[in-house]
Amino acid sequence: MTQLWDFSGGIHPPENKHQSTSRPIRVAGIPERLVLPLQQHIGEPAEVIVGVGDRVLKGQKIADVTTGMGVPVHASTSGVIEAIEQRPVPHPSGMADWCIVLKPDGEDQWCERKPVSDYHQLEREQVLGMIRDAGIAGMGGAGFPTDIKLRPPRDRKVETLILNGAECEPYITADDMTMREHAAEVVAGMQVMAWILRPSRCVIGIEDNKPEAISAMRNAVQGTQIEIAVIPTKYPSGGEKQLIQILTGQEVPSGGIPADIGVMCQNVGTAMAVSRAIFDGTPLISRVVTLTGDALQEAGTFEVLIGTPVSDLLASAGLQTSKLNRLVLGGPMMGFTLTTDSIPVVKTSNCVIAATAQELPAPSPEQPCIRCSQCADVCPMELLPQQLFWYSKAAEFEKAEHLNLFDCIECGACSYVCPSSIPLVQYYRYAKGEIRQQRAEQLKSDRARERFEARQARLEREQQEKEQRRKERAKAAAEAQARKQAEAEQAAEQGEAVDERAAKAALVQQALERKKAKASKTTSETEPDTPASPQEQPDVEALEKQLMQAEAKLNTMQGMLEEAKAQQADNVDKLERAVAKNYDRVERARQALADAQKAMATETDTPSSE
Ligand code: SF4
Ligand code: SF4
Repeated sequence: MTQLWDFSGGIHPPENKHQSTSRPIRVAGIPERLVLPLQQHIGEPAEVIVGVGDRVLKGQKIADVTTGMGVPVHASTSGVIEAIEQRPVPHPSGMADWCIVLKPDGEDQWCERKPVSDYHQLEREQVLGMIRDAGIAGMGGAGFPTDIKLRPPRDRKVETLILNGAECEPYITADDMTMREHAAEVVAGMQVMAWILRPSRCVIGIEDNKPEAISAMRNAVQGTQIEIAVIPTKYPSGGEKQLIQILTGQEVPSGGIPADIGVMCQNVGTAMAVSRAIFDGTPLISRVVTLTGDALQEAGTFEVLIGTPVSDLLASAGLQTSKLNRLVLGGPMMGFTLTTDSIPVVKTSNCVIAATAQELPAPSPEQPCIRCSQCADVCPMELLPQQLFWYSKAAEFEKAEHLNLFDCIECGACSYVCPSSIPLVQYYRYAKGEIRQQRAEQLKSDRARERFEARQARLEREQQEKEQRRKERAKAAAEAQARKQAEAEQAAEQGEAVDERAAKAALVQQALERKKAKASKTTSETEPDTPASPQEQPDVEALEKQLMQAEAKLNTMQGMLEEAKAQQADNVDKLERAVAKNYDRVERARQALADAQKAMATETDTPSSE
């Protein structure tokens, strides 16, 4: 016998479950249109991977999540993608969101499936990948992607795996009927999850108001290590934290997760989906939904294709429109009133109540709080609902947070007992929504600031790099200039030396030639008929050329000197000396030319040469 603990608070509302459990699960069939929202769970919406007009097969992936947390969406039957547009989706606000509209072709033709008979032969990551690819998200209501939930933080070992079959909320019987009719699949799915997590204890918690389900599950777990724990019927024993407390005696810390105390809780519907994903290769394209309420002639549980409009379901359950007063998605405690019946069934939809006015009468007008504290007495989370109400109503959200507003599981027990008919949960939802929005805006502005700071830092870094490159270029240019000038000076000095030597050589040559000329003149005086040799003439042409070269060099050096002076370069002195040298050289060349020309004139004027 499994040891059980109790949780504080709780209520015993009328169960109203028998209306939908008298008949076996029926198949709802294929509707005229399937509307498949891209976001059916917590996390990122899936991205469409098909186009309008595409024909798709049953089980084919039509949208997937590539970044962030999420699971794919599959075609619930074969047909043609008719539209990708915004449609009303299951949400308390009645909002619209992006959906894929599939027109079934009636053939219900499957895509290729890859069932696995022995998952033990696979790696754990492969099995987790199959669960993800099957699009499985928690089917108990929260809709957390199952493969991610099956990866607890590395530092937290899951010692106890719990399957939640409590289904404590009035009217809802989807899990009850699933356990009655699909017990073997539920157990097989739990075994797959246990193989992934390797807990030391596996337990399925079922409220004692479900004897058929308890019996079926007891039969199914025979030969396994799985325990069946029958727990007292009390609302909300099916709350994750409450069930953990009942079965383990441990409390999940405020703001924490079950893995913090070594526990993981999964829904029985999720276990069946895992079993089908592994052993049949079937993605999550249908689920068991309770259709109940006194406005229906044939209330019951149905196997419903994901995407089936609620209006189609109501028609198949014999809706008596004249009796209908209120449509509720979910249970009467935690569900919400639908503003339209055109919304589709999604992965987390477990119940639709078509209630008459007598069944779920409109709430009485809200009265002032009389401080009776009944709300606090029934709160399973041991909160202070009255104070939370005041702070939420006064928009003093910080104070509400301080009183652990986010530990509220929105079970509605406080609202249920409030004699003043105060819709307490609505105030808490409003406050949570506002706080989340403020946080989102804060996060958005923080991210914008971070992006701005990152941009500024990048611009500064780029500016610094640019400045550094500019300095390096300037340094390289200065070095090149200095090198060029040094080379020019060296060339100038070498050229000057060469020219000077050439001028000297020319003078020596001229002197020799004059000497020779004198000698030949003497000879010619003795031999008057011998004509004068051309070598005896001074080389005026060469001297003129040298003078021109010297003047050109001088001009160049003067130009360089002026440039250096303009730039206030270090080599001005050196260039001044070079210019002076060149100036001397020009002078000498001029003198040499003048001497040569004079010598020529003298020789021409000499009478003996005539
Ligand atoms: S139950 Fe209602 S009236 Fe009583 S204390 Fe709580 S909020 Fe006030
Ligand atoms: S709705 Fe929140 S505050 Fe009210 S009883 Fe439930 S957990 Fe407590």
